[in-house]
Amino acid sequence: MQCPHCAHPDSIRYGTSRGVQRYRCQACRRIFQTLRRGKDPALKQQACQLYLEGMGMRAIGRVLGIHHKTVSRWLVQAAEALPASPPQTEVCSFIEIDELCTFIAKKNLNVGSG
Ligand SMILES: [Zn+2]
Repeated sequence: MQCPHCAHPDSIRYGTSRGVQRYRCQACRRIFQTLRRGKDPALKQQACQLYLEGMGMRAIGRVLGIHHKTVSRWLVQAAEALPASPPQTEVCSFIEIDELCTFIAKKNLNVGSG
C-alpha cells in the first residue's frame, strides 16, 4: 500500500478504524486508511453539472440521493475554488477575415448579373 503522505510503497497493517483497514507507513510512520471519508468526488462534480443545467438543489438531492444542504455546500465549495477573476486571454492585434470577403464579393457579382 502506497503512503498518501510521502508516496513510500511499503506500509504495514495497523488495525482498523470503524471497520476500515488502517496502514502505517514504514518511512514516515504516519497512519492512513484506504477509503476516503465523505462522498465520491464524481458525485460532487455531477451535482455541479446538474446545477449548471438548471436543476434546483432539492431536485439534485432527490436525483442523486443526497441531502439538499449537502448539494448547497458542494456548490459553495466549487464556487470558492474558482479563480477570483477570469483567466486573461492574449490580446489580438490582427484578425483575418478572408472567407467573409469572398462571400461578399460573390454575393455582389450575383446581384450585378441578375
Ligand atoms: Zn509515508
